[in-house]
Amino acid sequence: MLELRNIVKIYETDNFRQAALDGVTLSFKRKEIVAILGPSGCGKTTLLNIIGGLDRYTSGDLIINGKSTKNFKDSDWDSYRNNSVGFVFQSYNLINHISVIDNVEMALTLSGVSVREKRTAAIHVLERVGLKDHMYKLPSQLSGGQKQRVAIARAIVNNPDIILMDEPTGALDSKTSVQILDLIKEISKDNLVLIVTHNPTLAEEYSDRIVKLYDGKVIDDSKPALIEPSSLVYSPKKTAMSFWTALKLSFNNLKTKLIRSLITTLAASIGIIGVALVLSISNGFGNQVDKLQKESLSGMPLTVSQYSFNFDMQTFQNMQNQESPEPNDFVYPYDPASSRIPIRENKITADYIDYIRAMDSSLYQSISFGYDASMFNLLTNYSGVKAVDAEDLNWSVLPSSTEYLLTQFEIISGEMPKEATDVVLIVDEQHRINQNILLDLGIPVLEQIEYSSIIGKELASARNNDFYTYDGAKYQVVSDLTTAYNAGIKLEIVGILRGTNQVSSLLLGEGIAYDSRLNDLVFSQSLTSNIVLAQQAADTNVKTGLAFNPFVFGDTKENTLKSIGGLEIPDNISIYAGDFNQKEELKEYLNAYNTDKEEIDQIVYSDLAEQFTGIMSSLVNGISIVLIAFAAISLVVSSIMIGIITYVSVLERTKEIGVLRSLGARKKDITRVFNAETMMIGFAAGVFGVVVTALLNIPLDQYLTSAVQNMENIADLSPTHAILLVVVSVILTLISGLIPASIAAKKDPVEALRVES
Ligand code: ADP
Ligand code: MG
Repeated sequence: MLELRNIVKIYETDNFRQAALDGVTLSFKRKEIVAILGPSGCGKTTLLNIIGGLDRYTSGDLIINGKSTKNFKDSDWDSYRNNSVGFVFQSYNLINHISVIDNVEMALTLSGVSVREKRTAAIHVLERVGLKDHMYKLPSQLSGGQKQRVAIARAIVNNPDIILMDEPTGALDSKTSVQILDLIKEISKDNLVLIVTHNPTLAEEYSDRIVKLYDGKVIDDSKPALIEPSSLVYSPKKTAMSFWTALKLSFNNLKTKLIRSLITTLAASIGIIGVALVLSISNGFGNQVDKLQKESLSGMPLTVSQYSFNFDMQTFQNMQNQESPEPNDFVYPYDPASSRIPIRENKITADYIDYIRAMDSSLYQSISFGYDASMFNLLTNYSGVKAVDAEDLNWSVLPSSTEYLLTQFEIISGEMPKEATDVVLIVDEQHRINQNILLDLGIPVLEQIEYSSIIGKELASARNNDFYTYDGAKYQVVSDLTTAYNAGIKLEIVGILRGTNQVSSLLLGEGIAYDSRLNDLVFSQSLTSNIVLAQQAADTNVKTGLAFNPFVFGDTKENTLKSIGGLEIPDNISIYAGDFNQKEELKEYLNAYNTDKEEIDQIVYSDLAEQFTGIMSSLVNGISIVLIAFAAISLVVSSIMIGIITYVSVLERTKEIGVLRSLGARKKDITRVFNAETMMIGFAAGVFGVVVTALLNIPLDQYLTSAVQNMENIADLSPTHAILLVVVSVILTLISGLIPASIAAKKDPVEALRVES
């Protein structure tokens, strides 16, 4: 059934060729115990390894059940070893980190036998070798004789045709040796058993046949077998290690080196923790900014102004990137249209106003129109009538939705306007106000001012006909403003409003805000006033009596008309949406106006809320990228470290690799064992890193929440990121273990078994 034909095995080293086997021809019967005798170095082990498919012959042929092995592939040898051969070595070669029964089961595991069958078979053979009571022990807890019994049990557990024993009693005392040989004789009644020994007495006593080797040649054969015609067709089952087995093997291995495994995991998790922390903060902050935009800022209006600039990240960077020239003797004029902060002019037309007014009421909460502040001709009368520049008062129109206004402002004194002529004073969060505004309003500037000296203050919006007088060439402001004041529209400060958050001031700056109905009151007299009629008729500037000067910014007929209340086209429009979604729809509507329009005729809104949050999120994103890059470096470092540790593990487990190969494990299976190990470390590191990050986020969040007002949950690891990080950790460690794993798989099983452990 087993036949060697002129087998030659040559070992080639750099400058040396040695024939370990030199033309061995032998045949064996299905059932016999053959002792192989010979001095050390004569080629006994080489012969067994070749018969067992662990080593390849250089020439000749090995015939198994009549089938030549000349064209055997690796996988054929693997299944041959697993199905047909059982090895027993002098040094036992048990896998030390798994139990006795797991060692015995390993051969069956590789041939894919079910768990229950495996158990039954393993217990059965352990019973036969007398070790049933020791099956859950680790090999290190057994004596030499017991270890060899385990090795024998492992060799016979899947009923191999051939049992190969390389000096099985070589490490045992003579009494134990006899017991082991008795056992071998007893269990091997139905097999071909080849026992290498250099003890001729034992060989005589226990074998049916003695083959003597010398210098790689057969010099004596006590009972040469006739070549029996084989009736059997040789077709062993293919072997494969399940991933689960690989995991179990590696898990046990990691367990035996618990401290090292834990330290490796810890080190591997540091990079993950770094990245996870940065992701937590950028994610949490991003969420907060979104929330801010959706909740607190969704009420911020979209504004359309005659002049606007977009203060976004791009603008911000452009401003930063301006190079200053070397000091020289020049100044440089610039066109505002292409300045550092690009100012855009929106030509708000009557058409556009109609477009806005035609908007479906479901798209907005309210709209307010703001007009050129100088059309109000503001006057105060405290120690004499004085003209007040409306711009200096930050004169602005109140949003028509009081409800929305009160989400951003609080009435600290008085009330909201009831009459069209009621106005309010806006102060900041700390109740502060620019003192010049108070001076303009005729309120004495003291260290602190009672509400009562503000509430009830009066001012007037003079009618154009009382305010301007024609001197024959141009219209100018009358020199005595008393009449203008007395006959003017009397306005009264009825309330003081305080901004309640940092963004309130984006809505209304400190100063005076008036009711939108005041616009109509002013227009009702201005549109028919002399100066307006004159300006409408004239092509020169009636306020200067000169032609419009193209070199003076804004000196146009239109702007002049606006400044005297002669044109009912607003300077700015604020449109308030109810919520974030409504705002998005509103934007669509406003954008639709610009389709098919020339750039110059387009009207662009600005979304202060978006600009505000846009800058914040761009900053956070930028910072996050830098931080993640740094954290990623530690990931790379830990990956390299894992590669090294895996390599150390490969070195340590060389013997185990040899044993697994002798049991029929494929190269692929060996790779699997090490990949399983790195994956487990990667997984543990990932999970550990994520858990530690989640814990670190608690104090970090407390700190950040106290540092950044109005925000909470700033350090917040999203579940998606957490899962992603675990996956990344597994993949990274897997990659870093690939090279050591392939080194392990390529190890020559014969060499691997030879390593001392
Ligand atoms: P035995 O088991 O009879 O003591 P071996 O079969 O181990 O002998 O070795 C036979 C001969 O082949 C010895 O001279 C040994 O040095 C040589 N040999 C064995 N393995 C190798 C190897 N991997 N490389 C080179 N020479 C080897
Ligand atoms: Mg030997």
